[in-house]
Amino acid sequence: MFNALVVEKNDEGKTSAAVQEISLDRLPEGDVTVAVEYSTVNYKDGLCIGPGGGLVRNYPHVPGIDFAGTVEASDDARYKPGDKVVLTGWRVGEAYWGGYAQKARVKADWLVPLRSGLDTRQAMAVGTAGFTAMLAVMALEDHGIKDGPVLVTGAAGGVGSVATAILANLGHEVAAVTGRPETADYLASLGATQIVPREDINETTKRPLEAETWGGCVDAVGGEMLARVLGQMKYGASVSAVGLAGGAGLPATVIPFLLRGVNLLGIDSVMQPYDNRVRAWERIAKDLPMDKLEAMIQPATLTDLPDLGRGILKGQVKGRVVVDVNS
Ligand code: NDP
Repeated sequence: MFNALVVEKNDEGKTSAAVQEISLDRLPEGDVTVAVEYSTVNYKDGLCIGPGGGLVRNYPHVPGIDFAGTVEASDDARYKPGDKVVLTGWRVGEAYWGGYAQKARVKADWLVPLRSGLDTRQAMAVGTAGFTAMLAVMALEDHGIKDGPVLVTGAAGGVGSVATAILANLGHEVAAVTGRPETADYLASLGATQIVPREDINETTKRPLEAETWGGCVDAVGGEMLARVLGQMKYGASVSAVGLAGGAGLPATVIPFLLRGVNLLGIDSVMQPYDNRVRAWERIAKDLPMDKLEAMIQPATLTDLPDLGRGILKGQVKGRVVVDVNS
């Protein structure tokens, strides 16, 4: 038997989430059984735990789009009991049972061996949000980061916090956009040299082009924020578009692309091929200072999850929530 946060749907279509004790034989099919140690709270998890079930594809469901732990049993030659592994993506926690449980069974192809010098807790402090932040920075590097500050939007959130710390550690000047002025000290401790109030971006002239200001951008917000940022990029600079915390619409014009050669780079962490995932985890171990990662952590247990799920959807979570599934 093991504990898991189970989301159920009743006959009226109403969903509820509660910690339950469930038996091993209820785990789905898969090649590798993992004793989960840590998971995290991402925006998608908030949707899956919340009313209506969000992205959940089948019930009863165990959410948790990422986890790290130790292999307990394996039918795949790449993994043996005792190996430390990490999982992000592949619709785990949406279409397949995820990390909000003390056990998980998944396809071997979805796992990455944790060889990068991180332990399982650190790996989940990074989690999907941090992994995605690294992919976003790598995409900016591939296209060339221009002189000038690199903008990070939604900076106090999970993706934003990790992106800020990585970019600062790489020597870039980081301008952190936040709607929460009380997080200014926290963002400065991660390495941001400039704190930009959210309204300074959102409430600009709304002209298609404004002063060329940013040498690159990691955008976790989308919507109006992304539209405004496009018109403020330096000539030939790139924006890694990661998220939609501020809306899925994009009220922009083509002018920044035509007259400033701006690149809009879509970042998808879910279907990243194995080699890219290994490369990103290696870069995380190398370029993300562990003391800054510690400063981002908010510890949690399985029973805290329903509240935290509501909080992340309201943009109230700071940094990274690390869920110890065994406490
Ligand atoms: P968080 O909730 O931790 O962070 C989002 C941040 O965005 C908030 O902390 C807040 O930052 C800001 N924000 C929230 N609402 C608004 C708003 N209405 N207008 C402007 N800013 C807002 O989420 P994550 O960092 O985990 O994820 C961010 C986004 O990235 C989500 O949309 C998520 O789904 C997406 N994502 C995408 C991935 C991919 O593969 N492409 C992978 C992981 C996440 P502040 O208070 O500092 O302003």
